[in-house]
Amino acid sequence: MKKFFFLFLLCGFSVFAQEKDRTLADGMNPMFYKKRTTPILNIALVYYGDFYNEADLARVQTMLEERFFASTDQALKLNIMVSAIIPFKNNILDFPDYRQDYVTDITRLQRLWYYDNVGAKILTEVYEQAKLHPEIKLQLNDLDALAIITGAQFDGLGFASGRVAVTENPMEIAWGLPDGGLVEFITDARVVDELTHEIGHAMFLDHAASHCSLPGMSYQESMACCALSPAKNDVMSYCRDRNSVNENHFYKYEACNLRIIREKIIPAMLSGGAWNVANREKCL
Ligand SMILES: [Zn+2]
Repeated sequence: MKKFFFLFLLCGFSVFAQEKDRTLADGMNPMFYKKRTTPILNIALVYYGDFYNEADLARVQTMLEERFFASTDQALKLNIMVSAIIPFKNNILDFPDYRQDYVTDITRLQRLWYYDNVGAKILTEVYEQAKLHPEIKLQLNDLDALAIITGAQFDGLGFASGRVAVTENPMEIAWGLPDGGLVEFITDARVVDELTHEIGHAMFLDHAASHCSLPGMSYQESMACCALSPAKNDVMSYCRDRNSVNENHFYKYEACNLRIIREKIIPAMLSGGAWNVANREKCL
């Protein structure tokens, strides 16, 4: 059955840098940072779909800015230059023949249509729509990354490609079962946790403690590995307990990733250097 809760909801990411992409105006994979005088990461925050209103997005924005700054031990400030709600390009009403076996609710079908017809290409679709947005398009040359929350469904919690990152809210679970599965509404704190993780990828950070979630490992093996891992509580780690994230608790970048941020990423930002920083430490 599609998208059950498995042990680890994996986050895919790809880290291509493209010589031809000078800025986000040119493509999703700019190779270099734009030079700046202070350590600030400039992003656009987009809700893609119809679930959030302006107040929802503003609330997430505030928490994301606060928690990201704290997550970097106040080394790197997140500046959300522009935030926007962008409606789905593809509307379910234009696809009257689209059906699911057990789900008939139109708002759920809208989200599931994306699973069956767009999937991981959602990153490209939102990027293209964002480029048309009157406020975002003016900022594209200055943006380091595009962070997206969407109701469009894809496999996994979130993923990133180059400088574009996405997470789901709401999330459709096991919709192919006779009971129609369920819709999970993600708390602001969980959305912010996932965005902090994906923005990490958009800064060229890899997964921490990835040796604890190798294919074929049992749950017990993973947990035993995590218990011994110095990076287990890093926001980039699958060892972290996402269910514990709430109004009072959140995960940060831990010592190893903080070193990469301080010693590799921020210097690259300040010098206009390469985004795919060289000799990146492996955080175990
Ligand atoms: Zn990830």
